[in-house]
Amino acid sequence: MRVQSVEFFYAREPVVTLDADGSQDALIVRITAGSFVGWGECEASPLTSIAAFVTPRSHGVCQPVSASVLGMPVDSAEDIREIQRLVRRNSMDLLQAAHVLSGVDMALWDLLGKARGVPVWSLLGYTENLPKTPYASVLFGASPEETRERGRAMRERGFRAVKFGWGGFGEGALDADVAQVQAARSGVGEDCELFVDAGQAWGSDVEAARRVLPALADNRVSWLEEPFEAGALAAYAKLGELSGAVGIAGGEAAHDVQMAYNLMRFGKVTFIQIDAGRVGGIGPGTEVAAYAAAHGVAYINHTFTSQLALSASLQPFAGLPGSTICEFPALGSSLAHDMTVDRIEVDTDGLVRAPDRPGLGVDIDLDAISDRLVDVEMVVNGETIYRSTSP
Ligand SMILES: [Mg+2]
Repeated sequence: MRVQSVEFFYAREPVVTLDADGSQDALIVRITAGSFVGWGECEASPLTSIAAFVTPRSHGVCQPVSASVLGMPVDSAEDIREIQRLVRRNSMDLLQAAHVLSGVDMALWDLLGKARGVPVWSLLGYTENLPKTPYASVLFGASPEETRERGRAMRERGFRAVKFGWGGFGEGALDADVAQVQAARSGVGEDCELFVDAGQAWGSDVEAARRVLPALADNRVSWLEEPFEAGALAAYAKLGELSGAVGIAGGEAAHDVQMAYNLMRFGKVTFIQIDAGRVGGIGPGTEVAAYAAAHGVAYINHTFTSQLALSASLQPFAGLPGSTICEFPALGSSLAHDMTVDRIEVDTDGLVRAPDRPGLGVDIDLDAISDRLVDVEMVVNGETIYRSTSP
């Protein structure tokens, strides 16, 4: 079978705020090949990603992503890897290509899994689907009181690990950061694993970041996530030498496998967090997971949006015994909640697994979000190069 069509559905909440909540809009990908349909989701700016798929070519290695996808065979895992290789080569100067490729890659794996009647993790070579301990991923509250309440609420929902992030952390006075970390610990209680995400607050300033380390250690924070911008590898490595028992995490910004390898190789992170919706998809995520396992780094998914994105990001490490925790989006938008037919629930043991259903096991419900779909048309010199399809 060959890729017959790639369709995009851009959905967004009625009001998109400046909160660091990436679930306020979504770019859903639907691929048709033979009699099968696959779904994917880009963790990316929707309009620019659609543009990367349809833009007129600039030169030989700045082609639209569509040039390497439409009409291609998709009968095997090797076929999907060949599409990866072609997009990376033919769109190397088109920086948004990795983001749209991520959703395309997911949809291709979903489609192939459905055609074969097997889950994606099995197509990736795993023989078992191991349970992971989910951590609730939430933003810091606007005040320490709100953070404490949020922590309590997550414990009441049964989570044994919670991550707080963003919400101005690292951007103001040290006292304010310390108060937030103390509130987080007091909210989740003493017997809960706690993580903190600084959202790249300190740029590449190691001295600014190290000031918060004592408060993290005092409150038994297991990792400090993204203290620096994605490419600040020397700063990551330096902070890791100073952080003692507090691990350093990062990787969600990686949009190819080499960025992720370098964060481990030169940034010396102890936790690598990969979003299949950004790194190029499930295939690249699986390569990073194998590298991490071979180098003693814990691989974790990054997921803050939908259940489809969660399934896709669980696949690359579903069968890796050394990676035992996963990020679980716990407070996403109503859009993220409504857009899927299926849900990945925390089981009675408090654990989460990738679905065992064929493909990604999470289908999209376009009817449920029809009121939030955005009508898009792109016109160049009077010629329509893209028009959104109605569901
Ligand atoms: Mg993060």
